[in-house]
Amino acid sequence: MKLDDLSPYRHAIDRRRAEFEDAAFEDRFRRHLLPQHSAQLKASLLFAAFFYVVFGVTDIATLGYTLTAWLLVALRVLVALIALGGHVALSRWPESPRTPPLAASTLLSAALAVFMLVAWYQPEALAWNTMSLALILMAVYVNFPNRFLYAVAIGIVSSMVFAAMLVVQGLRHADDVLTLILLLILGNALGFIAAKRIHLAQREAFRAAFMLQQLADRDPLTGCYNRRVLQRGLLDAELARCRRYGTALSVVLCDLDHFKQVNDTHGHAAGDQVLQRFAALLLAMTRDTIDSVIRYGGEEFLVVLPQTELDGARALAERIRQAFAGTPIQTGAATVTATASFGIGSVAIRYPHAAPSAEALIGCADSQLYAVKRHGRNAVRAALI
Ligand code: GH3
Ligand code: MG
Ligand code: MG
Repeated sequence: MKLDDLSPYRHAIDRRRAEFEDAAFEDRFRRHLLPQHSAQLKASLLFAAFFYVVFGVTDIATLGYTLTAWLLVALRVLVALIALGGHVALSRWPESPRTPPLAASTLLSAALAVFMLVAWYQPEALAWNTMSLALILMAVYVNFPNRFLYAVAIGIVSSMVFAAMLVVQGLRHADDVLTLILLLILGNALGFIAAKRIHLAQREAFRAAFMLQQLADRDPLTGCYNRRVLQRGLLDAELARCRRYGTALSVVLCDLDHFKQVNDTHGHAAGDQVLQRFAALLLAMTRDTIDSVIRYGGEEFLVVLPQTELDGARALAERIRQAFAGTPIQTGAATVTATASFGIGSVAIRYPHAAPSAEALIGCADSQLYAVKRHGRNAVRAALI
């Protein structure tokens, strides 16, 4: 992840849609909440299946043991089956952030369509059914984790269809129709406000946690990871992957040459700019989200290159070395040309023994770096461990 991730603008929330503007960040948010949303949704689906069938009793109570009543009960059972299907889908595809909105929207659409039929065949109970719909709207907006826009669409469309039905079926008194329509508008308005608050609050909390994590993990001068990330086991995790899948892994230890002289000659502020320029090169020339650049010491950086063999790591280090040495850096008053030395430690594909420890791998890169320093600096050396 690169520097601009820390910019709050990159993670702006589109308040109209109640989603992050950046689709990738929205996806990251949804994946983060996926276990929680799936569990909530599974419970809501079972709840819906149960109550939908149980309320079939009211159809029989109103319509008697008629064909229409049994048909409505059968449709209720169908809705319950759709709810159970959603439950199965959530267990079957637990990794996909698309499953919860799909399961929620399908069930709610089916349930509301059947609800319209139930209400249509029981015109004398229209007032009660309007109240039921106002309560169901709460479930649409709040209880079923869904995308905000989907919930709004389902809530509004179902209310409009129901309102049309109230008018067509013609309750005897126009003031009743007006009251019931206002009840539906109220249900939608309350649901809309509650859902929007929940969606925005969840995203704000996620963004704050993400930013704090970034601040804790990043070096403020260069934007690279700091050593805390290494201590938390970044390299150990990569080595575990090597051990498990037999993949290659390389680490590059980079150290600026005669950097004390740069500071002494041009001043500490100029030294800082040189460090920033070098870090920017490392971040720009490595793979986003795959490689990691860590500020290992004052003017030392460690680059972790998963699935990269020795030759690939050497070629990359050489490109970085040339780019850095070949581009003078404008630092206020002076133009500074600096160089860096690179030592590489590499774990080969299908390393025949257990992969080395993180310390041993870094030690291997360090000894290569020291060899470069002894032989005149501004060069790359690499070794397999
Ligand atoms: P060598 O080629 O052998 O690596 O020589 P060197 O001068 O780079 O090595 P040395 O370890 O003697 O000096 C490292 C210098 O890096 C000393 C320190 O003041 C400087 N340094 C460390 N962190 C920072 C920083 O954040 N900003 C600046 N401007 N300088 C820093
Ligand atoms: Mg050093
Ligand atoms: Mg140095």
